Amino acid sequence: METKAFQAESKKLLDMMIHSIYTHKEIFLRELISNASDAIDKLYFRSLTDDSVGLNKGDFFIRLDINKTERTITITDNGIGMTAEELEHNLGTIASSGSLKFKTDNQLGEDQQIIGQFGVGFYSAFMVAKRVTVYSRAFDEEQAYKWQSEGVEGYTIEPTDEVSNLTKHGTKIVLELADDSDEENYSEFLEEFRIQHLVKRYSDYIRFPIQMEISHRKLKEGTTDEYDLEINLETLNSMVPLWRKNRSELTDDDYNNFYQEKFNDYMPPMAFKHVHNEGAVSYDALLYIPSKAPFDYYTREYEKGLQLYTNGVLIMEKCADLLPDYYSFVKGLVDSEDLSLNISREMLQHDRQLKLIAKSIEKTIHNELIRMLNNDREKYEKFFEAFGTQIKYGICSDYGMHKDDLQDLLIFRSSRDDKLITLSEYVERMPEDQKDIYYASGNTIEQIKALPQTEAVLAKGYEILYFTIPVDEFAVKNMISFKDKTFKSVTASDLDLNTEEEKKALDEKTEENKSLFETMHKALEGKVERVTLSSRLKSHPVCLTSEGDLTLEMEKTLNAMPTDTKVQAKLVLELNPEHPVFEKLTALNGSDNEKVQKYAKLLYNQALLMENMPIDNPAEFSNLICELM
Ligand code: ADP
Repeated sequence: METKAFQAESKKLLDMMIHSIYTHKEIFLRELISNASDAIDKLYFRSLTDDSVGLNKGDFFIRLDINKTERTITITDNGIGMTAEELEHNLGTIASSGSLKFKTDNQLGEDQQIIGQFGVGFYSAFMVAKRVTVYSRAFDEEQAYKWQSEGVEGYTIEPTDEVSNLTKHGTKIVLELADDSDEENYSEFLEEFRIQHLVKRYSDYIRFPIQMEISHRKLKEGTTDEYDLEINLETLNSMVPLWRKNRSELTDDDYNNFYQEKFNDYMPPMAFKHVHNEGAVSYDALLYIPSKAPFDYYTREYEKGLQLYTNGVLIMEKCADLLPDYYSFVKGLVDSEDLSLNISREMLQHDRQLKLIAKSIEKTIHNELIRMLNNDREKYEKFFEAFGTQIKYGICSDYGMHKDDLQDLLIFRSSRDDKLITLSEYVERMPEDQKDIYYASGNTIEQIKALPQTEAVLAKGYEILYFTIPVDEFAVKNMISFKDKTFKSVTASDLDLNTEEEKKALDEKTEENKSLFETMHKALEGKVERVTLSSRLKSHPVCLTSEGDLTLEMEKTLNAMPTDTKVQAKLVLELNPEHPVFEKLTALNGSDNEKVQKYAKLLYNQALLMENMPIDNPAEFSNLICELM
């Protein structure tokens, strides 16, 4: 018989499973039971809408058998089963695994991560078995097939007579355990109590009975120390879905295990919330925040959504309508009695009940985040590091219509002590004479701190929010204000930090030097709107500010986008009247205008460099420096 090779990536993953870097080998059982349950779910769902299936809920089972002499564990289900093609496709290629598409090593990093990203799945069988045999017959199909593999060398598929004497359709998986070694004891999985314990721990909520023959010692009648062995078929799991149980019956571990198994994460979640809602709509929900953004989170590949159940039956794997985009990182499920089983995807979108549930869930998520922000700042900062950008995008989306819901979730670093603060915290500690909320943008905090435009604001004793990613500035532009305080960039030309007297003095001085500014502006035609005196500079000779809505940082971001339309901020070149350079300029003005214009170009380029912007003509700039030296 022909041995087929595994698809390259599958082989790699398989290899990792066998030389298991994964410490919890025991999870193989929960993975295989979970697959069995999914397969039953599919057939059960069909039976609900198609009478010809002829099966009731009570007919379904998952059966575990252990055989100490053969050293085998067998998992049988009477679910939907697999055709030969499905066996080939589902078990021969990793890409078909319901979790995630394969990414090459360098995109993921550590081995551990690769497994996590996929969910360990079927291949985890090879962590404990030296040979795996799968017998399967798809419901409605005549022929059953047998798939067999001893690991990376490949697998075989051939027709077989039957799946199991327990069922005609469905799947039976036989694991021949690996030999025990000094490091590993595989025989433990042949102990009844061990299997019972594992099912209770990881698979208790599975909605179909997981059955196994359990032996009990019974005292022989008329004796005090002789026993009979009695064997009973028992159901090991409680079958109550986790989300139907009471919070008080469950431990954090129960919730975390459930999450990791269900949503294929190798890390426990950062936070979870169990909701039992009654009222306008009744539903149970389990909501989780992952501790890390999935590697594809900020790509188009990522699909948001919650699992949707009605009365315990899964009707949709990822119901996107249950989550707004800005909370797309939330994983979990919703179970409601109020939804019809036969509802189609299209109808669901317009379903009033579903909309109410979505609203209620959104509120729950918001409240939970606010609670975390108030009670566990450290955790919240981690959350924000992973998903804060998504919330900022949320503020920018739909013309800013979600800002009222999201603005309280924002945190920024600030000039006060480099700590992350909320906008409310900023406003609460504003000095009485401060009118606006100040921010400064740059690639890094260090770069922002070096901006000349921050000097005057800081000298006033005002705090500055540091914006280090482009979306920050777009978000506050969408908000315009917070608690009636306008957001203002320290580079805005109308910063308005001065007293009436200071303003008057500056106006007079500006008037006096009008001809100087005109001469300089001539040299910078098309680059700046005007040249003027600055009230914000302390030690630097010059800076650029912007008039209107568009700042230099935004210009940079927008122009980096792959579109043809380019934008240009309206710039103003501001000179520091207290700087020796200014004295020099006034002395030259009128006597050597050509030199004044050369200085103007130099100063303009200098200001650009400080903003981390490219200069227009580096060669000319370099020549000018040499010439003036
Ligand atoms: P995942 O469960 O994440 O999809 P697996 O590697 O565990 O990935 O399984 C791959 C696929 O094989 C499943 O998606 C399913 O289609 C199929 N499969 C696995 N076990 C069974 C089973 N017991 N019955 C029917 N199909 C199964």
